[in-house]
Amino acid sequence: MKRKTGNASKANQPSRPTPEHLRTGRPRLVKQVNQRSVFEIVQNLGSVSRAELARLTGASMPTASKTVARLIKLGLIEEHGILPPDGKGRPSRMYRTATLKSQVIGIAFEPHRCRVVSAGIDGLYKTSAILSFPTPGTYRELIDKTVAAARTFMTERARTLRIGISVPGNVDTAAQQCLLAPNLHILDRRKPGLDIQSALGVETRIVHETIATCLAERIYGEARGVRNFVMIGTYEGFGMSAVVNGDLLVGSHGLAGELGHITVQADGELCGCGNRGCLETVSTDPAFTRLVNRTAGKSLNIQDIRDAVHQNKLDVTAPLLTTLDFLATGVAAAINIFDPEIVALCSRMFEMTPDAFAYLNSRIIAKTLQPMAQRCQIIRVEGDTLRGGVAAAIYHIVESLGPQMNWAG
Ligand SMILES: [Zn+2]
Repeated sequence: MKRKTGNASKANQPSRPTPEHLRTGRPRLVKQVNQRSVFEIVQNLGSVSRAELARLTGASMPTASKTVARLIKLGLIEEHGILPPDGKGRPSRMYRTATLKSQVIGIAFEPHRCRVVSAGIDGLYKTSAILSFPTPGTYRELIDKTVAAARTFMTERARTLRIGISVPGNVDTAAQQCLLAPNLHILDRRKPGLDIQSALGVETRIVHETIATCLAERIYGEARGVRNFVMIGTYEGFGMSAVVNGDLLVGSHGLAGELGHITVQADGELCGCGNRGCLETVSTDPAFTRLVNRTAGKSLNIQDIRDAVHQNKLDVTAPLLTTLDFLATGVAAAINIFDPEIVALCSRMFEMTPDAFAYLNSRIIAKTLQPMAQRCQIIRVEGDTLRGGVAAAIYHIVESLGPQMNWAG
């Protein structure tokens, strides 16, 4: 399956194992590569038999059986029924990602509220189960409340394998430190993942919210199994994250993807980064809100603007087209750089008028190098950060299984 869609560049991932490594031995590496491949196939297909797993990974039946047994023991997959025999074949057991005896906990820190939930290894959870509380004013209180909420999900019934946290700030991935959270400064220079991990005894990872929502789309959303994928969100700033040849783009310090800070207006507005005229100052929901307020002489937030537009009390056509046009420039730049199969966009601006998204789409296509524009699918997603926290936990489990195979190697 992965072999067919693979178009990886060798230069990008020099250390990734290739099929040649499997032929030439290295038993531990082979075992790790197999278990990751098998788990990802179960994840992408939803339900699969051992024979199918052997066929799709190119492994023998005994190897596929051993890998399945190991993944069951790790609590990552489970048997969920038997497929009746078709003609002369034997009945086959079917496997799926575990939902009964193991779980992950997802957490989303946002400027005004925090949410905690438990989910199966398939990433699914009931929205009625979410625990939510207003974001406390101090870091200590934030950790205490989050630990207490997470603890209520840690029951005898299911083993908690990981905790993932979506944070609204830049993260040093290796140090697991939140470097700067512009809208939630209590997190600045803190290590909330490690603090929660030491309180609960479960491995915990923090991830920038843009990356977290990207992982959610990639693991169980619209971009499931897609090898080249870009996600752009404009709720607060211009957040971009990318999956390149199946790997999340992180950069040397976990900060890659800051496309929002390229200069598009030489003497433009002052940006949060200290420069002037960054793409972020003209292409995002806050940029649109500022432009509407300046034009109309008001001081509304984006929800107020949307309500006024829907009640025909406010015309935002000109500011909306201006802001979407800048956003199209940013999205087109991302497509030109990454040549993705899918670009997922989330923005409150799409809620203003029924044709806002279609307009943006047409501007992106006009600004993107052909024929990439024709081949790239542009979709609209919600970009929920709690789903992102759950996805961050699952992503870390997948990463820890072993390296991803470079089928193009
Ligand atoms: Zn900037």
